[in-house]
Amino acid sequence: AQHFLGRIGANGALGAFVSLDADVTLAQARAADEKLAAGNAPALTGVPIAHKDIFVTTDFPTTAGSKILAGYRSPFDATVVRKLAEAGTVTLGKLSCDEFAMGSSNENVAVPAVGFDTATPVRNPWDGSRIPGGSSGASAAVVAARLAPAATGTDTGGSIRQPASFCGITGIKPTYGRASRYGMVAFASSLDQAGPMARSAEDCALLLSAMCGPDLDRDSTSIDRPAEDFSRNLNGSLEGLRIGVPKEFLGDGVAPGVRAAIDAALAEYEKLGAKRVVVSLPRTELSIPVYYILAPAEASSNLSRFDGVKFGHRAAHYKDLGDMYAQTREEGFGDEVKRRIMIGTYVLSHGYYDAYYLQAQKVRRMIADDFQQAFKECDVIAGPAAPSVAWKIGEHGDDPVADYLADIFTLPASLAGLPGMCLPVGFGEGNMPVGLQLIGNYFNEAKLLNAAHRFQ
Ligand code: GLN
Repeated sequence: AQHFLGRIGANGALGAFVSLDADVTLAQARAADEKLAAGNAPALTGVPIAHKDIFVTTDFPTTAGSKILAGYRSPFDATVVRKLAEAGTVTLGKLSCDEFAMGSSNENVAVPAVGFDTATPVRNPWDGSRIPGGSSGASAAVVAARLAPAATGTDTGGSIRQPASFCGITGIKPTYGRASRYGMVAFASSLDQAGPMARSAEDCALLLSAMCGPDLDRDSTSIDRPAEDFSRNLNGSLEGLRIGVPKEFLGDGVAPGVRAAIDAALAEYEKLGAKRVVVSLPRTELSIPVYYILAPAEASSNLSRFDGVKFGHRAAHYKDLGDMYAQTREEGFGDEVKRRIMIGTYVLSHGYYDAYYLQAQKVRRMIADDFQQAFKECDVIAGPAAPSVAWKIGEHGDDPVADYLADIFTLPASLAGLPGMCLPVGFGEGNMPVGLQLIGNYFNEAKLLNAAHRFQ
């Protein structure tokens, strides 16, 4: 913990941490030392970890990247945080993220990082002029920069897999319902999943085993399936493994450097005994409009709880109760959050519900069915996590749709609730990292981790 706190202090320019407290961290580390000395310590005892600031914690403030949660401190720990602590981890601090996890670049952040006076985008450690990806951008950046051996992330539409790709690290989003959402500030509840981000598939397997498991009393979508040891089959043979590459994932929109790195990785898999087969996910393009209807719809409902009464910020000047809500939300939410609340309330409103929300739900089901067709012909699906390498800070300017379009390869698995991971496989344009995305059928996390581990 001392080593990593030192590195964090020396690398504050990345803008990755929004909350640090060395006293808290070192007290946890001393407790871990005592457990180790007593000889009955669980597997992850003393392993430092940093948490995305979307998980509520008692030891550190929680902002979800938003001004509206300024000054908020939770009276309880998120289940994922609690389970990791019970497995022995030591918390290094809280990590920047796009506000309420809405974003693909960690530029939509409204709270200042430690050492900054104003909100600042997180920098990619491979090239400080580029984004680390998002929304778990800082989680990927700190692992890549060796400021933490591991971090938690959340993935609603790609927020673990895409920053892992952009920063050259490994991350996994489990099957929807495997990791409890209790204490994860809600964005789109039918999509949100937590997962680990670390240097290797092996580390991710150890962390994921600690994070998953039923939490039926606290999360109504938690799956009643016992926690697994995800590292049990890391060295399994890949002989005969059918890797399905969706033809829609390597079309014209993919940067040549990304395509070359993915092709080289697939060739490497063939050397390890796997077979490459072509599959189709015909509704890949539709995943963008479907997600950007459903996720804002759910967000508009979830974010109604931030009204200045119960949590964080409250406007200083207002005329009456209605005005207090309005002023608080006007001051507290950033542009992207407001945009999504407006889209979400629009698609849910009378007269538009059938045309947008209901229609999107139907196509979501078809996207999930397409995966089941594909899994008749293959064991895992592989392709890029994003069409390009990390772009430059500010490159997408005021064009949110440019960000949305770049989510095309991560959204389908999110909408289907399937497990997905990303592992570093090479470098593309600008010598920036390229990740390979692996998607498995429901509950096939161990298969994905095995495939990733054998590559690494
Ligand atoms: N980029 C997507 C969005 O902005 C996904 C974010 C996420 O997975 N949290 O909604």
